[in-house]
Amino acid sequence: MTPATELSTADWLVAEHGIEPKLMGARETRLTVGNGYLATRGSLVESRRGAWPATYVAGVFDRRDATVIDLVRAPDWLATRIDVAGRVLDVDSCSVLSHTQTLDLRQALLFRTTDFEDPDGRQTRLTTVRFASGDNSHLVATRLQIMPLNHGAPITVETGFNGHSPSLDRCPYADLDRFDEAERWEKWTKTKHTHHVQADATGGSALLEVATFDRDIRIGYAMELTAPEADVTSRGVSGHEHTAAIVHFDARQGATYTLDKLVGICTSRDYRADGGAVLQRSAAVAAEARSAGFDAALAAHRREWARRWKACDCVIGGDQEATRAIRFNLYHLLIASNPADPTVSIGAKALAGEGYKGHVFWDTEIFVLPFFIYTQPDTARALLRYRYETLEGARGNARDNGYEGAQFAWESADSGAETTPKWTHDGVNRIWTGEEEIHITADIVYAMDTYVQATGDAVLMSDYGAVIAIEGARFWTSRLEYDTEHDRYDLTNVIGPDEFHEHVDNNLYTNALAQWALRRAAQLADDLRTDSPDVWRTIAGRLELTADEVSNWRRVADRVRVPAFGGKDVLEQFEGYAALDDIPIVEWDHNNMPVYPAGYDHFNCGETTLIKQPDVLMLMYLLPDLFDPETVCANFDFYEARTMHKSSLSPAIHAIMGIEAGATDKAVQYFRRSVLVDLVDNQGNTRDGIHIASASGSWMSVVAGFGGFRVRDGRPAFDPWLPPEWTSVQFNLSWHGSLLGVRVSHDGITLDWPASARPLTVAVAGRNHRLQPGETPTLPYDPRR
Ligand code: BGC
Repeated sequence: MTPATELSTADWLVAEHGIEPKLMGARETRLTVGNGYLATRGSLVESRRGAWPATYVAGVFDRRDATVIDLVRAPDWLATRIDVAGRVLDVDSCSVLSHTQTLDLRQALLFRTTDFEDPDGRQTRLTTVRFASGDNSHLVATRLQIMPLNHGAPITVETGFNGHSPSLDRCPYADLDRFDEAERWEKWTKTKHTHHVQADATGGSALLEVATFDRDIRIGYAMELTAPEADVTSRGVSGHEHTAAIVHFDARQGATYTLDKLVGICTSRDYRADGGAVLQRSAAVAAEARSAGFDAALAAHRREWARRWKACDCVIGGDQEATRAIRFNLYHLLIASNPADPTVSIGAKALAGEGYKGHVFWDTEIFVLPFFIYTQPDTARALLRYRYETLEGARGNARDNGYEGAQFAWESADSGAETTPKWTHDGVNRIWTGEEEIHITADIVYAMDTYVQATGDAVLMSDYGAVIAIEGARFWTSRLEYDTEHDRYDLTNVIGPDEFHEHVDNNLYTNALAQWALRRAAQLADDLRTDSPDVWRTIAGRLELTADEVSNWRRVADRVRVPAFGGKDVLEQFEGYAALDDIPIVEWDHNNMPVYPAGYDHFNCGETTLIKQPDVLMLMYLLPDLFDPETVCANFDFYEARTMHKSSLSPAIHAIMGIEAGATDKAVQYFRRSVLVDLVDNQGNTRDGIHIASASGSWMSVVAGFGGFRVRDGRPAFDPWLPPEWTSVQFNLSWHGSLLGVRVSHDGITLDWPASARPLTVAVAGRNHRLQPGETPTLPYDPRR
C-alpha cells in the first residue's frame, strides 16, 4: 500500500517528537481531529498509561450524578491492541526507538510513526493516519500500517470500540502538579454518562450502541475493517461495552501490513437526522465508505478542507512560525464548528477536552464569532441560532432569579439553563459567575448585530435576533436597580469580565453593554415597525410588546450609571476599585506571563487592583466609538500594568488595544502569547482542551490588530500597522456575501474585491475609497504609530 498522502510544507505542520509523559496530555489536545459534529483527541491508537483518549459529539450532554451537566465522553473508536509474538506493542511495554506525530493542518490529517523494540528485541514500525471526515461528518477513519523491521513473527491486531468511557468529575486535590502526568486523571472521581445497549461483531464489521442516562441519547458506532494483504484472517469479538475485529498476520520482515478502519458514528439527537435507528445509520455510513474505499473517503475529505482554507487562510509574510501558529488556531476553529447544526455551539475548550465540561460561555459570541462572521458566515449563523434554540432555558433562568425576559446562562450546555458549577473541582472555593457574570445577555445581542452588519442578513435579526434582543431588554430593565436619589439605574453585585473581583457594583463594562443592549433593542423594534410592519406585528403580538415598553427601554438606558468618558481619564472598572491595594506585578515566568505576587492567588486578588483579564479595555475594544485616543492610551497604560492574564482571552485583546494605544512592541508580544497559548501551553492547562477563544482572538489580533480592521459607519475600515520584521499580513474578510482579500505590506494595503461583487466603499487610514468589482488597488497608508 502506498502512503495515504504526502505531507504539506512545514508552515502547515505541527510535529511532536518522542514520548514525553509530561507533555502527552497537551499533545492529545493539540492533535485533535474533528469536523464540528465530533472530535477525537490525538491519543495513540494503542493508548498508554495516563492517556485520555476521547471522542466527543457536539451537543451530547448528560448530568446523572455529576456535579454539573457534562459533555459526554463517547466510546473510544481508536481502541487497538497489537500483539507481536505474545508481546504487546505500546509505549509502556516496549522501548520507543523513535516516535513522531504530525498534524497536517492543511489536510486535517494526523500522521504518526513509531519504531518499537519489544523486550525480546523485535523491532516493529507502526504508522497511522487518521481523519474525521470533512466531507461526511459522521465518518472517522484511520489507516494502520505495521512493518516488522527485524523479524518475521506472527502479529495479531484487535481493533474496535471501547464503550467504557467515563468523564472526569471532581478532584479533591488543588495542587495536581504534585502528581506525575500518568497519575493526574487517576486522581479524579469519574462519572459515567452512558450504559451499554448492544454490541456485535462479525469478520471486519463491528457495532456498538450505548445510551446516555438522563435523556436516553443513543450513540451508535459501526466499523468496517479491511486488511488488503492476502494472508489475513479475521474474526469478530464483542461483549459488554466492547466490540472488535481480530486480525492475524503471519508477518514477513520488511513487508507492510495495512488495516483500514472506517467508522460511522450517529446519535439519536442528530439535527434533522433521517429516520432509522442509530446503528443502522452508522452502519450505512461505514458500509458506504468501505465500498468507495479509504482512499476515496480521504480524497473527499481533502477536497472539502481545500475549500475551507480558501476562505480563511491567513499568512504572515516573513514569519513562517507565526503563519504556522495562526493556522494551527484556525484549524482548531474549523474542526470545532458545524454550520449544519444550529442547536449546538462551541464550548470554551471546543471538543478537544473536558475542561469546563463542554460548556458554552461569552467566549463564543465575543471571541469566536468574529472569525466565523468574517470568513464562514453560514457557520456564524448556526452558532447564533444556538442562542435562539436555547431561549426557553434563558427565560427559565430569568424566572428562577426573579427577573423578566431572558437571562442567558454564564455557562450553557444543551438547554440554555444555567450550568455553572457552584464550587471549584476541589470543593474549596465558591464560584459566583453563574449568579453574577450577567454581561453575557448583552454580549449575545452585540454578536448578532456584528453578524448582521457584516452579512446584510437582516432575516437572522427578524427571525431570531429580535426576540433575543427584546427578551434581553426585559431582563435588563428588571435587573437594573433604580436609585431615586440620583435618578439613575445601578447594577449591583455583579462580576465583570475580570473575574478576580466578585460582588462589585456598577462594573463599567456590564453597565455600558446593558445600556447599549437596551438602546439596540429599542432601535431594532423601531426599525421593524417601520420597515417590516408584518414581522413587527407578529413579534409584538407574540411577545405582548407595546410602543410604551420600547420607549421605556430608552428612558432606562439614558439613566444607566455610566460616567462620561474622555479627557485622558483612567476609568474606574467598578465603584470602589480605585481604593483597593495597588500591588505591583514584579515577576514573569519563562513564557513571559505574570506570576502572582507573593501571598496572592486567584481567590484573593480581589482585594487588590490586579485584574485577571481586560475589563475596561474590553469595553474600549467592543465600543470603540465611545472613546477618544487619549483615553484609550491612558487606560491601556494603567490596566495593562495590572493585568495578570490568567485567562487566555486576555493577550489577544491586549495585542489589539496595544496597537490602538501605540504600544506596538507590547502588542507583538501579546500576539505571540495568544497565538502560542496551546502550542507552547503557556496557560499550563492545554491538556484540558483547546483555548478556542484565544484561537479566534489570535485571528482577531491579526485582522483587527495588525490589519486595523473595524466596521465604521457600517463599512469596512482599515488602519493597519505592521511590525518591521514582517513583510506582510494577508487575510480574507467576507463582506455581504463576497470575499475581500486584504494584504498589508510596508508599501501599502492591497485589496482584492471580486468581479461578482457590488461596488463597496472602504476606509483606509481614514480616507474613503470606492472599490469597484474586479479591482485590486494598492492604497497608501501612513501608519500612525
Ligand atoms: C475567563 C472567562 C471565560 C472562561 C471560559 C475564564 O477563566 O475568565 O472570561 O469565559 O474562562 O474560557
